[in-house]
Amino acid sequence: MQDKKERVPSEAVAQATKEALKRRGVKMDDIADIVYQLQLPYNASLSMEDCVDSVERVLCKREVQHSILVGIELDELAEKKLLSEPLQSIIESDEGLFGVDETLALGVVMTYGSIALTTFGYLDKSKIGIIKELDTKLDSSVHTFLDDLVASIAASAASRIAHRLRDLEEDRSAMVDTTELVLESSSSSNSDF
Ligand code: MG
Repeated sequence: MQDKKERVPSEAVAQATKEALKRRGVKMDDIADIVYQLQLPYNASLSMEDCVDSVERVLCKREVQHSILVGIELDELAEKKLLSEPLQSIIESDEGLFGVDETLALGVVMTYGSIALTTFGYLDKSKIGIIKELDTKLDSSVHTFLDDLVASIAASAASRIAHRLRDLEEDRSAMVDTTELVLESSSSSNSDF
């Protein structure tokens, strides 16, 4: 069992995750931009700020941070040709039948429900924005894990927004109901005069 003293502070894991994404050329705005494109048709008042905020909330989850760190580490090791064969060749060439990159990313979306899951499937096929850029890089960089991880963060952040929008709408309609009740009771008391 791990000794309490050996625990890695959560702040260090969160910081390492942000640095890893930055080091690999992925900015918060790049992911938020995908979230914006995904959610705008359902929410006309959505702002980029909402999307950046949602992405940051997803990145606060420890399970998400762990998946990102593992995936990026494997990409970087493959880039430096430090993995053993045949894994080195499989990851370096992003072999079509290798699905561990998707499996790792699925772990992220699982915590955000079915909307995140189906959105991830959509992004895996459509590859928009930074996902496309990562997928089509022609230099020697390896993004076998990163493209799926970015898709999973965007899908999760989009799902968060969809659920929050429903909560907000219900809160608003509850407020309208209460206001109507108050108005009704005040008008009926007036008519009693
Ligand atoms: Mg991949």
